[in-house]
Amino acid sequence: MQKHSNKVAWCSFCDQGWVEICKDKKTKELFVACDECGSRWEHPVDTNKSSIATTIFDEDTEVEILEPTEKEIALNDWKQYILDSY
Ligand SMILES: [Zn+2]
Repeated sequence: MQKHSNKVAWCSFCDQGWVEICKDKKTKELFVACDECGSRWEHPVDTNKSSIATTIFDEDTEVEILEPTEKEIALNDWKQYILDSY
């Protein structure tokens, strides 16, 4: 997660990292998570709501994260949320 290629927002929770699109290895579901604090949201439009964030570091909900492919992101219709890289 160093490339920040799938970033959708600056983290509203820690204000220190990028929120990027991730993929749960087990369920194959896409979600978004901060690469700094691990805050997690189920949808890119929710990232400004720090109050509903969960965390990927919680023992009960810990997931193995994969980087989703461009196709998977397009299938989810989340391509529109990706910020331009520069
Ligand atoms: Zn964060």
